[in-house]
Amino acid sequence: MIKTNQHNLIFNPNLKSQKVACPKCSGERKNKADKSLSVNAEKGVFHCHHCGWSGRIDGWAPDLTEYQKPKRSNWTPLGDAASVFLKSRGFSIETIQKNKLIQKKFGKDDFIGYPYFIPNEKEPVNIKWRGVGPKEFRQEAGTYRVLYNITLWGETDELIWVEGENDVIALNECGIWNVTTLSDGAINENDQSIDGKLKSLHNSFEWIKHFRSHILAGDGWPRKKAQGGVD
Ligand SMILES: [Zn+2]
Repeated sequence: MIKTNQHNLIFNPNLKSQKVACPKCSGERKNKADKSLSVNAEKGVFHCHHCGWSGRIDGWAPDLTEYQKPKRSNWTPLGDAASVFLKSRGFSIETIQKNKLIQKKFGKDDFIGYPYFIPNEKEPVNIKWRGVGPKEFRQEAGTYRVLYNITLWGETDELIWVEGENDVIALNECGIWNVTTLSDGAINENDQSIDGKLKSLHNSFEWIKHFRSHILAGDGWPRKKAQGGVD
């Protein structure tokens, strides 16, 4: 169980005072595990002794939901069918390993797992499962939704947005790592509410706000659909 909030600070709200790794500066530091950020959970304030970042936790209408970590059950390395599927996309073993893809059976069907990581957390906070056969997606309820590939973004001020984890990995295969996708699919014209679909964007704000430009590289829908294409 983790607790978080709009600053992406992960801390124990029951401890009055504690030190955690700073989501702002730890990624750029040699000792990435250094706990340079003090959190006072009682007063709701925090301060990083390295980069000076400070603020209030409760000033943002804090989200103190108890998010679930994906249940570690029956995860396996990729099997033959999954490997054939990924190879047919042109993905190399090296790129697949960097994305830490795994596999799991739901009933009789094999699903490929795309883990979602955030800085300073070894275990994935969410996993998107895609059927190897039918194009079917699953995510566990109650997991913390963030953008895909955050921990693999390079040093750049440009972020490329594509439609789905496989499109991210396709660009990774081409040597492009500053690329991402939403976790809950693209917004379309029939959506009644877009809040749920944008949760991963909202929760990732601290990690994307330094990007100066954003390139939207969609699938060209609906024009492609009209031409009889598939998505
Ligand atoms: Zn810092």
